[in-house]
Amino acid sequence: AKADGKSSLRFFDAEMDQHIRERDQLERELKTAVARGDIRPFFQPLVDLRTKEIVGFEALARWSHPVLGAVPPDRFIPVAEDTGLIQELSESLLAESCRAALDWPTSVTLSFNISPVQLKEPTLGLRILAILARTGLPPSRLEIEITESALVRDLESARSVLTSLREAGVRLALDDFGTGYSSLYHLRNFKLDKIKIDRSFVSSMAHEHESAEIVSALVGLGHGLGLTITAEGVEGSEQEADLLARGCQQGQGYLFSQAVSAEEAVSLLRPGQDR
Ligand code: C2E
Ligand code: CA
Ligand code: CA
Ligand code: CA
Repeated sequence: AKADGKSSLRFFDAEMDQHIRERDQLERELKTAVARGDIRPFFQPLVDLRTKEIVGFEALARWSHPVLGAVPPDRFIPVAEDTGLIQELSESLLAESCRAALDWPTSVTLSFNISPVQLKEPTLGLRILAILARTGLPPSRLEIEITESALVRDLESARSVLTSLREAGVRLALDDFGTGYSSLYHLRNFKLDKIKIDRSFVSSMAHEHESAEIVSALVGLGHGLGLTITAEGVEGSEQEADLLARGCQQGQGYLFSQAVSAEEAVSLLRPGQDR
């Protein structure tokens, strides 16, 4: 058993090494990638569960790396946060996303993720509004997605940024709802427009009574507070039917579409085309 422990430890070390090397590589190359525009937004539809219509798209960052291939955002967003590149990266992604959104019907909104680190910057609100003005996307068509950890880290800065955005007409969504901190506190203390129920509840609804009941309760709570509820990670039509039966209005997930390029997003919107 001792030998086993040792060899698995060595294996673990090798994996860690690999991980650290890759992170170093991403860190070195991130700046050029951002400058060259190798990291671009893809768009995943948000669907009205009753009408099946696309009501919005969430921009999701994709890095097509010349050697590593498609690097997922969970790998490079943390690097961008640590190196201070997140602001530049996020601004270029937002500008490109706004330009893409101008090709959609005016009722179709753009959802955009803001990292907790960015909310510590008090000028963030003004910067976002400047990008909207420059690209010509009306603030009412933008929805900013934040996670609860953003509100915990620097409450005062977050509050002033979010207030200035909201006053300009930008909508606010609380992402990954149910996984974080004191959720109910934030529902009371921040003016929100939407909560996105985390994928973990949606995926376990069918086999876990608790998850299904939590989804029902969140939908009821959201409605009582006048919020839109979006279910994340809808992968099957049973989940879709269950969500609909529990009164959830919006869904997002592989059942409808993965994140696609701006061109493909426009073609998903063409009338006559299902989903
Ligand atoms: P998120 O905001 O919770 O985004 C949803 C993630 O779930 C996306 O992963 C999406 O591709 C994935 N997803 C959507 N539908 C399904 C489904 O049916 N099943 C499963 N298993 N997964 C589904 P992705 O694109 O890898 O993004 C991961 C995270 O990276 C995002 O989580 C978000 O927190 C962050 N991120 C992505 N783009 C940006 C960005 O531009 N800025 C910032 N700050 N963060 C970003
Ligand atoms: Ca999100
Ligand atoms: Ca989410
Ligand atoms: Ca997430």
